[in-house]
Amino acid sequence: MSENKRKAAIVTGAAKGIGRAVALKFAQSGVDVVVNYRASDPADLVAEIERLGAGCLAVQADVGDFEQARHLVAKGMEKYGRIDYLINNAGITRDGLILKMGEADFDAVVDTNLKGAFNTTRHVSPIMLKQKSGAIVNITSVAGLHGNAGQANYSAAKAGLVGLTKSVAKELGSRGITVNAVAPGFIETDMTDSLPEAVKTKLLESIALRRYGQAQEVADLVHFIANCKYMTAQVVTIDGGMS
Ligand code: NAP
Repeated sequence: MSENKRKAAIVTGAAKGIGRAVALKFAQSGVDVVVNYRASDPADLVAEIERLGAGCLAVQADVGDFEQARHLVAKGMEKYGRIDYLINNAGITRDGLILKMGEADFDAVVDTNLKGAFNTTRHVSPIMLKQKSGAIVNITSVAGLHGNAGQANYSAAKAGLVGLTKSVAKELGSRGITVNAVAPGFIETDMTDSLPEAVKTKLLESIALRRYGQAQEVADLVHFIANCKYMTAQVVTIDGGMS
């Protein structure tokens, strides 16, 4: 592939977990990657991507902040001159029952999981429209489709992400831009690591495949969907048959 035909991807929250696996998957397929991170150090990921022969730019930004999201996209454009893929992966949980959930825990989860995706999409859209090509994949959750006790904030944010996905897909489709969402079930990452053993055991019983998912498996699906040219406004579940 000649230098000016190389593609570039922005992956938010890419320093660990699913985001890291997604960033590596795109790099393996010859795509340059803008690795967004907040606090976790992305240095070893950057080195691994460069070992794979892809370009890599690490940009620190809280995607929940409109101006920081603008900075992230601008840095990516400055470096690669195009954005072909946007993977909105950054996410947090602040679990608690609705009777006890504080306003700050609701706001923080919505700000990162939902507004973060709006912010990056808002800044990337003019670029993709000008290119007349691009693919956006939002990482939602089965909690956003079916609800989950103790996760009213997270489920609401992830459900909102489904609405954002379908609406933006309708707005950008006429220019050949696809917008889809992936809804994972229980994937083994730091996010799920802290759950009590009893909760994990109960969850396992509800998974048809009787095992937790791996970040790599989600990354493979995200990469596949991002390259499906005739698929848009869809939500694809990857949960081992849990739902
Ligand atoms: P993870 O290991 O905790 O990784 C989350 C990543 O998001 C971290 O790199 C984190 O950065 C980053 N992040 C958080 N807030 C951010 C912000 N404001 N700006 C930029 N980056 C931010 O979790 P994961 O399991 O890989 O989750 C990835 C995505 O999949 C999330 O959207 C999550 O909701 C979704 N998901 C996960 C599961 C699961 O079972 N694991 C299931 C369904 C959906 P720092 O480390 O620097 O904070």
